[in-house]
Amino acid sequence: MQKTLAILILPLISIAAIFTGAVCLSSQQARKEQIMNKDNETVSPSGVNDLTIKVVYDNNPYKQELGTAWGFSAFIIGTEKNILFDTGGDGSLLLGNMKKLGIEPNSIDVVVLSHIHDDHTGGLASFLQKNHKTEVFLPESFPKKFKESVQQYQAKVIEVKQPLKICENVYSTGQLGKWIKEQSLIIHTKAGLVLITGCAHPGIVNIVNTAKELMKEDILLVMGGFHLEWATRGKIEKIISALKQCGVQYVSPCHCTGEKARSLFEKHFDKNYINVGVGKVITFDDLQ
Ligand SMILES: [Zn+2]
Ligand SMILES: [Zn+2]
Repeated sequence: MQKTLAILILPLISIAAIFTGAVCLSSQQARKEQIMNKDNETVSPSGVNDLTIKVVYDNNPYKQELGTAWGFSAFIIGTEKNILFDTGGDGSLLLGNMKKLGIEPNSIDVVVLSHIHDDHTGGLASFLQKNHKTEVFLPESFPKKFKESVQQYQAKVIEVKQPLKICENVYSTGQLGKWIKEQSLIIHTKAGLVLITGCAHPGIVNIVNTAKELMKEDILLVMGGFHLEWATRGKIEKIISALKQCGVQYVSPCHCTGEKARSLFEKHFDKNYINVGVGKVITFDDLQ
C-alpha cells in the first residue's frame, strides 16, 4: 500500500518541484502542459542508466579515420529512442562518418535540430534519403520551406517552441534566443543532466541556467558548441566561473567554441574537461 502511494505521489512531487519558482500560476500551468507528453508523464525519478554519445561530425579531429568539417552532430544511444542531434553541414561526410562508427541511419528514431544554420542542418536531406521513418524536432521559427522539405521525405516534423519531452528522460529546452533561435537537448541521467548544445547562440550560461531551472537538477555534463570563437579571454573566464558556480561538473566544448576557449576550459576544469572531436565516444565511464 505504501509503495502504491509512493508511486502515485512521487510523480506529483516531481511536477511540483519542476514548476515551483517565481513564475505566475497560469504560466506555470501552461509550461507544465507543454513539457508533459500525451501520457501525462513528467520527469521520471530515475533517469537514464546507460548512455553513450558518439560525436559523428565536428571540425575538431579526434579519430583519425573520420573526416572533419565545420559543423556538429552527435548520436545518442541508451535513451528510450536513438537520437541524432544536428546533422553537420555535409550529408556525404555525415553518412561516411556514421558508417565508420557503425551507426546505421535506419536505427535513428529521432533527429533534433538545434538551429537553422547550415553547419547543423546541411546533412539532413542526405540522412532522410536513408531513413524515412524518423521524427524531426526543429525550432518552430524554422522557415516554412525547410519544414516542407523535411515532410517531402515522409519524416514527421515536430515544431518546438516551449520546453517539451522528446522521449523518456529526454527534453528540449524549447527555442531560446532573440535573433538566432536555438534549442538544446537535455538528457536526464541517473547522475545528473547531460546538456548538448549546437552553437549556443542564446549564450551557454543562459542555456545551462534554463535547463537547471526547468529540470530542478544539477548538470553533470555540458557538451557541444559554446560559440566563444571570438570571445576575449576575460569573457571566457567569466563564463567558466559562471558555469562552475552553476555546479556544472564536466565540460566537452567543441565545434564553435574556439581553441583559446577550449584550452581555458581545459585549464580550469582540469580532469573534468573531456576532449571532444569527431569520433569521440562519451559514456558514464568518462563522467565519474
Ligand atoms: Zn550557428
Ligand atoms: Zn555551428
